[in-house]
Amino acid sequence: MLRIAIIGAGVAGLCMAMRLKRAGIDSFTIYEKSAGVGGTWRDNIYPGCACDTPSHLYSFSFAPNPDWSRIWAEQPEILAYLERCAETHGLGPHTRFNTAVAAARFDSRNHRWSILLANGEEAEADILISGLGQLNVPAWPEIEGREDFGGTAFHSARWREDHDMTGLDVAVIGNGASATQFIPRIAPRVKSLTIFQRSANWVAPKPDAPYTRAQKTLFAASPWRRKLHRLAIFLRFELRFASFFKKSLLRPAFEKQLGVFMKHHVKDPALRAALSPDYPAGCKRVLLASDYYPALTLPNVRVVSDPIERIVADGLVTRGGAHHRVDTIIYGTGFRSTEFLTPVEITGTDGTTLNEAWREGAHAHRGVTVAGFPNFFMLYGPNTNLGHASIIFMIEAQVRYILRCLRRMRRKGLSFMDVKPWAMERYNRRLQRQLKGMVWDSGCGSWYKNAAGRITNNWPRFAFQYALAMRRPRWREYDLRR
Ligand code: NAP
Repeated sequence: MLRIAIIGAGVAGLCMAMRLKRAGIDSFTIYEKSAGVGGTWRDNIYPGCACDTPSHLYSFSFAPNPDWSRIWAEQPEILAYLERCAETHGLGPHTRFNTAVAAARFDSRNHRWSILLANGEEAEADILISGLGQLNVPAWPEIEGREDFGGTAFHSARWREDHDMTGLDVAVIGNGASATQFIPRIAPRVKSLTIFQRSANWVAPKPDAPYTRAQKTLFAASPWRRKLHRLAIFLRFELRFASFFKKSLLRPAFEKQLGVFMKHHVKDPALRAALSPDYPAGCKRVLLASDYYPALTLPNVRVVSDPIERIVADGLVTRGGAHHRVDTIIYGTGFRSTEFLTPVEITGTDGTTLNEAWREGAHAHRGVTVAGFPNFFMLYGPNTNLGHASIIFMIEAQVRYILRCLRRMRRKGLSFMDVKPWAMERYNRRLQRQLKGMVWDSGCGSWYKNAAGRITNNWPRFAFQYALAMRRPRWREYDLRR
């Protein structure tokens, strides 16, 4: 019996655990740093927080929910769904809450992982699976004087519900997916809202709507209708990927459509100029929001695109010396996305840590295994992110792959499984070649790349192609031992 340790009870960790249960494998423990399941959907509670993939697709294929209240459900509903999934699959007894994993070291003699928990306890497992993903550690910008601010400051992923912003002067740093969701919600209640924008984003309308009672009843009564609905969403989103190739002929029309959308809402040409990106659509994530542009035109909202020079006790100073007095600063500055497993120190066969192995940028075999780190699997690892479809779709493909590996280990009595360096290198050479042809490589900065400009996060093909490639492991790519 293989003992399995899963790090994190977010979407990825839950998916792995649910599939293990369904496969009749009970010998696993989930280590979760917080007091509940949900991961990013537990951490991010800012007003307006939602997923930009429609919920019928952003849910487990094997745990459907016919009752989604609207096309793009918001965070409380997504979290409730994940909690329900954990409960119905009986994951409670398998989960150790408030238990962070600090480090894990592979013991080459016994083919086991020694796990050090943040509380000082030690644990052991034959297989280690990371469900940490890409977006779990908030990124704080390095701006001079950040610590000197005398008002209230917090990150969007650590929202301060106890801080009432009614009637206050508020600054938001950043205008990514998170900021574009909470800005429309807070703008009407604050006295003034100043958005510090470093670069403009492409924004697309979000045609959200509630599902009617009749639709929900139909989805519940007829699984085929629900599946067809899911498939239609998948295909519609998958088609969008075609515009992500550098040479795509679809992009000019797409950009024109987004320009018309902006013009419809933003009448002031100076503001329009400030909001117009200087890079091709898709290079950074295209944002989905129908209420963002209207919020920017409210009389109490201002967009400042001069760079922030420093933060002072009562506000921010931008280039040229302009002083912006505020009571509150909200950092909508995203996540340390390219560092992947940073919070946990993982040490492989020759004493090398993952961070050392990834000095040039995170990379893995099929996003799941890393040479020199046997019996270790990652979910939502390097180069498995999408700019256009559901990450849960990708995670399910990885979980199926890992299950096949575990079954093989069990059947053949294996205790060691390590991807061969040549296989990982060959895979990554090809991947990086393909990435050169993608729009993400068009010169903009984004969370898809590390500081050196290597694209460490995205998968450069259609999502269905990843699922096909992950159908079955190629055993000759692995060093398998008893
Ligand atoms: P993000 O997309 O990385 O945006 C961070 C923002 O902060 C950018 O506007 C960035 O400007 C700005 N910024 C960073 N450092 C700065 C600095 N030193 N000075 C000024 N501005 C700075 O982060 P996010 O909005 O949290 O979203 C991250 C990802 O999380 C999303 O792309 C998505 O995958 C996921 N997410 C999804 C949803 C959703 O489903 N709708 C919602 C929230 C998050 P630059 O653009 O110039 O770098």
